[in-house]
Amino acid sequence: MRPLIIANWKMNPANSKDAFDLARAVVRGLEGVEADVVLCPPFVYVPQLLPSPNVFIGSQDAFWEQEGAYTGEVSPLMLKNLGCSYVILGHSERRKLGETSQMVAKKIQAVLDAVLVPVVCIGEDIEREMNITLKDIKETDVSKIVFVYEPEGAISTEPNAKPASLEQLERALNRMRTLLPKTATILYGGSVNSRNIQGFMGKGVQGALVGAVSLDAQEFIQLVKNAVSM
Ligand code: PEP
Repeated sequence: MRPLIIANWKMNPANSKDAFDLARAVVRGLEGVEADVVLCPPFVYVPQLLPSPNVFIGSQDAFWEQEGAYTGEVSPLMLKNLGCSYVILGHSERRKLGETSQMVAKKIQAVLDAVLVPVVCIGEDIEREMNITLKDIKETDVSKIVFVYEPEGAISTEPNAKPASLEQLERALNRMRTLLPKTATILYGGSVNSRNIQGFMGKGVQGALVGAVSLDAQEFIQLVKNAVSM
């Protein structure tokens, strides 16, 4: 299985030169590596990052309309026109700022309409979040979505963060699979690094959403390589 590893840079780095250098190091270090990698920088850096055959560009959010009077928002169509191919939606850090599953549902549809891949984060409240977010999505579209099981307490920047145990991950995957088509892509997110990635992959996820470690080019490259050599 070809792993899919998605880098969530969050609100980092502080300047565009560092963003460019980080992306360039990752692209070079992963040349020829049999994995699909997506770099999701802050919006402002998207135009300067160039994709490669195995490193794609994504964003960390998008609005649910394609254009109009929505001050401060960025549309899926704009991201598509800048060369993005993936959009992270429903991250717990956005939910803490007030984003609801209903809002995530509208964003998923807009991202699909722009022919981008939604990367939808699902926390511990699996059934509720999935039922609301998928309620109006056509079944044929559900298989175009990448789902991430990402329990909030596993995110490395949370107080007392702990990665999900392999048993916890297995239980969550079983719950998610009962609600999804067999072909659905499911990733794991939360304190993933080059040493623990293989354990998570061994439970049947197709890859990972990676935060903190994705800002360290060498450690991130090693993580991707370890995911490939499963
Ligand atoms: C995230 O916030 O999406 C994440 C996975 O972060 P970290 O890898 O730092 O836990």
